[in-house]
Amino acid sequence: MQIEELGWNSFFQDHFVKLENQNLIPARVAREDKNLYLIYTEKGEMIATVSGRFRYNAIDYGNFPAVGDWVAVKTREEEGKATIHSLLPRKSKFSRKVAGFKTEEQVLASNIDTVFLVSGLDENFNLRRIERHMTIAWDSGATPVIILNKTDLCDDVDSKVEMVGASFLGVTVLAMSAVKNEGLTQLQVYMTHGNTSVFLGSSGVGKSTIINGLLGDDRFKTGEVRESDSKGRHTTTHREMIFIPTGGIVIDTPGMRELQLWTVDEGIENIFGDIEDLTSACRFSDCSHIHEPGCAIQEAIDCGRLNIKRFNSYLRLQEETKKLTLRQDDKAFLRDKKKRNKQISMMSKKLKKMDKNGYL
Ligand code: GDP
Ligand code: ZN
Repeated sequence: MQIEELGWNSFFQDHFVKLENQNLIPARVAREDKNLYLIYTEKGEMIATVSGRFRYNAIDYGNFPAVGDWVAVKTREEEGKATIHSLLPRKSKFSRKVAGFKTEEQVLASNIDTVFLVSGLDENFNLRRIERHMTIAWDSGATPVIILNKTDLCDDVDSKVEMVGASFLGVTVLAMSAVKNEGLTQLQVYMTHGNTSVFLGSSGVGKSTIINGLLGDDRFKTGEVRESDSKGRHTTTHREMIFIPTGGIVIDTPGMRELQLWTVDEGIENIFGDIEDLTSACRFSDCSHIHEPGCAIQEAIDCGRLNIKRFNSYLRLQEETKKLTLRQDDKAFLRDKKKRNKQISMMSKKLKKMDKNGYL
């Protein structure tokens, strides 16, 4: 396989040449499992681990290779193994913030060009959910494309497409039916040579069906693949990097599938879906649900349809979400401060040297 087919381009090439190490070749991470990486190189598939120095320098979880990353490796072809020496900068990334003593980042997929936000046009259709997924998409740096699937279950496809299009100006909206095999060709534009995409959307919206449709005759590849482990037993593994016959690459990791569950907002939606629905009926979109006129929440509480205790727990959870977000910002601030301090100390060293040599 040519390296360009794996998604290599001038962006990565420019960074790779800066490493100035002729013993290294580029490789793309296709899968990660307990610190072992399955990588694709021009020389084929290999199993890799990070070098001791890499591990030492990584510090943060987010600096370790993730699926989709480009890395520089030294190969031991006879063994089919390689050592990862550096991680090339990421063009885009999807990550999860792991909250704990300190907030850490876990990268779920990287170097994605296109992110398809899939929704079903059935009774679960929810514009707010698309909004949340859109936030994830913009944060990632990949270009979002909205897919409204299951057109066969909807009578007013055109008005839905129009409504969604009006809500997300400038974002392409595609309507299709994966089971009826209708509208799939619209996706082919994105499934080109080396273009990497991911599918984001709640469970059951049809992501697997769409990917299978794109694979055509190769459809079995999305399913579980049986492989033998070292003891000769059969274990099932899941392909996380899928090659579409027309040239596109789809990354489909368990982590990406669960991404929406991890975003705290979505958690609120799952537990307090009824309250979220009510808030959309408030007269003001930024209603605080305390004193505004036309507040659907207050009305529901007044007429006994909504329990005030439940509403208070909802507010509490929202408060916690806000705190968590603040803590994450905190970390970014600290990191920047460290960087700034380093720059300042480097600058002052330089100045001292210049002073000593009589240039000042
Ligand atoms: P995923 O969880 O997003 O991967 O969703 P799946 O691809 O597993 O699909 C969930 C269910 O929706 C399956 O029963 C599919 O057959 C069905 N489905 C997928 N696409 C369509 C569609 O376009 N129309 C209808 N009616 N059902 C669909
Ligand atoms: Zn309100």
